[in-house]
Amino acid sequence: MPDARKPTLPPGFAAKPKRSRLPRGFKGAKRPPSGERRGLTRKDFTSDQDVRWCPGCGDYAILATVQRLMPQLGVQRENVVFISGIGCSSRFPYYMETYGVHSIHGRAPTLATGLKASRPELDVWIVTGDGDALSIGGNHLIHILRRNVNCQILLFNNQIYGLTKGQFSPTSELGKITKSSPYGSLALPFNPVSVALGATASFVARSADRDTRHLAAILKRAHKHNGAAMVEIYQNCNIYNDGAFFEFTEKATKPHRTIFLEHGKPMVYDGGRRAVRLDGFRPESIDLTGGAWSVSDAIVYDETSLELAGIASRMFWNDEMPRPFGVFYCERRESYESRLHAQLHHVTELHGEGDLDVLLNTGDTWEIN
Ligand code: SF4
Repeated sequence: MPDARKPTLPPGFAAKPKRSRLPRGFKGAKRPPSGERRGLTRKDFTSDQDVRWCPGCGDYAILATVQRLMPQLGVQRENVVFISGIGCSSRFPYYMETYGVHSIHGRAPTLATGLKASRPELDVWIVTGDGDALSIGGNHLIHILRRNVNCQILLFNNQIYGLTKGQFSPTSELGKITKSSPYGSLALPFNPVSVALGATASFVARSADRDTRHLAAILKRAHKHNGAAMVEIYQNCNIYNDGAFFEFTEKATKPHRTIFLEHGKPMVYDGGRRAVRLDGFRPESIDLTGGAWSVSDAIVYDETSLELAGIASRMFWNDEMPRPFGVFYCERRESYESRLHAQLHHVTELHGEGDLDVLLNTGDTWEIN
């Protein structure tokens, strides 16, 4: 992926579409005037920058899915901002014909929080990787989730540091042999879904680069959600960690190694041959073909249940269980910026407009000679 050629845009910035009048206030911020009505297509969201990922990288499929999705979301380019940190996935904003910031390692959530606080009407997307989000930016990720800043967080998980040429990352499996762990990594990996649930995220989902139809549906849901919507995307790094998720994406193994969570539907997989039931608090895979169990024994998934989301997320640790994809958890909760602006309004009504000069020169101030 590394490429020494200079980008033609100023450092830190992606495409710069023309400014236009922005809608007043931020009610209905996720439903700006329809891009589709103006006849926008995928091409309108594709920048003129050369895409510089390695041929065959899973990032291409994710980029194409997002570019295709944009016109369907009814957004206007001048109201959309993609913010990234550092890493292969973080080149994403260059390739979107929207506003974009290629920011600091792990700090995309801080920029997004500041932007949404001051310009809540903008449609903000964070693009990050497993190292950027969970190691360097782990602190920032958990706080944007608990604050529930209204944005979409696309966490490209390839279980490796790709840009720096293949060191183990916070999601690499135990015993992973890499350049920085020649005898095997010693720490358990993070499961990003569990991390997000633990950080009180209001929307948590998982999808994969190779399942673009599912990915588009999940991203649409994330975009509709009012709050921080985190989507973990399994992304193949064919150079440094090829095939990390093949058991969940390839035809031969996908049916019995994956389960697709659907709200209100029984947890059935493997073409209806198997299901997941609860034995106390423990999920168990059952065979529906032998006559001992039926679909009525399966868990009916409820995406508003934090308990079920926790159980489904921890299936990650059990190789006898299928790996869940889809929306784990979705909760209606007021966004951070909505609370912030309500508080500002309230305080202004009580005390009137503030004066920055007075604020800076009141109380414990002193001069240094
Ligand atoms: Fe190349 Fe891997 Fe980076 Fe993709 S994630 S651009 S395959 S190094």
